[in-house]
Amino acid sequence: MPSWNIIAVSATETTELLIVGCGPAGATAAREAARAGAETLVLERDSVVGSKRVCAAGLRPGFCETFDVPRAIVHCDTPRLAFFDGAGAEYEVAFGPGHTTTREELDSKLAELAKREGAAVRTQALFRTLRRDGRGFIAEYADLAKGERRRVAARYVFLAPGATARLEDPSFGRVAMPDWRDGLLTTLQYRVYLEHRASAVAYRTLELHYYAARDGRQIVAWMFPKRDHLAIGLGVMGKIRAEALRTELDLFTERVRARLYPKSGVRSVKTEGHLLYGGMPRPNVSDDGLLVGGTAAGFVDATNGEGIFEAAMSGRFAADAVVRARSRGEHASVRYASDVNARFRRRLLHRVHIMRYLEQRPARFAHLFDQLARTPRLAAVLLKEDSERTMSERLYLYSQALYFGFRTAACRD
Ligand SMILES: Cc1cc2nc3c(=O)[nH]c(=O)nc-3n(C[C@H](O)[C@H](O)[C@H](O)COP(=O)(O)OP(=O)(O)OC[C@H]3O[C@@H](n4cnc5c(N)ncnc54)[C@H](O)[C@@H]3O)c2cc1C
Repeated sequence: MPSWNIIAVSATETTELLIVGCGPAGATAAREAARAGAETLVLERDSVVGSKRVCAAGLRPGFCETFDVPRAIVHCDTPRLAFFDGAGAEYEVAFGPGHTTTREELDSKLAELAKREGAAVRTQALFRTLRRDGRGFIAEYADLAKGERRRVAARYVFLAPGATARLEDPSFGRVAMPDWRDGLLTTLQYRVYLEHRASAVAYRTLELHYYAARDGRQIVAWMFPKRDHLAIGLGVMGKIRAEALRTELDLFTERVRARLYPKSGVRSVKTEGHLLYGGMPRPNVSDDGLLVGGTAAGFVDATNGEGIFEAAMSGRFAADAVVRARSRGEHASVRYASDVNARFRRRLLHRVHIMRYLEQRPARFAHLFDQLARTPRLAAVLLKEDSERTMSERLYLYSQALYFGFRTAACRD
């Protein structure tokens, strides 16, 4: 391992837009900024884009069309969303159809599309520090292949390094968020490769399970089908011992096996774990040319862990803000914050509050799922952003919320 202190920092290169992280947020920003003519450089610490992403990789309806991604990345179309309450009862909600993929495919495709538009994607490039320099920034990163420290000067920086983002240093200015860690969940997932196909319904369904762990903490678990395996995983708020988490996942996997593949043997299992963010969105997502997106900005739906759509959309907004700043002299930070706020910040804040309300009395989950299953319009309206809802849809939502509050007022556990 080289010692960074004794290795000379190479001469500074320059770019207009520097992006940290080549996940859905970074790659979408790179693709769309480069397409509009901005000189764009992406720093990605992994050697192969997407190869280490741990994710259930469920995509909301219309994802490929919204982001112009080839349908070839889709493994299964999933018209059913099935919620399971603490007692294991199933509630079917029609939606979509949603889709599944793998992050190897999604992220590498997005990176390829970004490169095709002229963005430079540098792998094995570990971003380390950022400081302001005149009207722009100087970023320092480690070239992991060569064991060198390098510098890039950039007019704009889009930070999209995911859940491990630590932006507490004063150099990150207003985007710092001291209680970021409080919103982190620990997740563990098995990719289960079967000897024979699971029952047909498995490949048409996204399953989400909400129940109490053995220590009483709330678990959100999932079974998402793929072409050649089932992604079976769960997440728990905060830290939990690896052994305890694995036991929880083994118990959950056994329940899935009994329902969906009781007769098939298992060819192999790949185990993977990562952090997920499930707290409040970052209060400030930009500060004078510095923009933060995707999970690093806290753009994850706290009720179900969905964040790929929000990440890609924040990348689109970042690219647009930079392009407008170059061509029309607008403030990139102001435009970016206003776009993400208008598009999904309100929904994400609501989802954190909903999740906390449900977790206080877990019996409320069953009431909510029952209401969703019996009123398809509610599920459809909930899927929309606040800004997309008509007045009558908003009134409808309030009436449904009142009804839900009335039904759950008496919940004791
Ligand atoms: C177990 C699990 C299941 C999930 N399931 C779903 C799901 O089914 N559907 C859904 O929509 N969302 C899901 N999510 C959430 C989803 O993964 C994230 O919301 C999404 O990946 C956010 O994209 P991003 O681009 O912000 O960050 P990421 O996808 O995390 O990408 C960040 C990138 O930055 C790179 N990076 C990090 N630090 C550095 C650094 N210092 N220097 C250079 N590069 C760096 C990483 O290597 C990575 O490539 C899940 C998350 C987990 C953990």
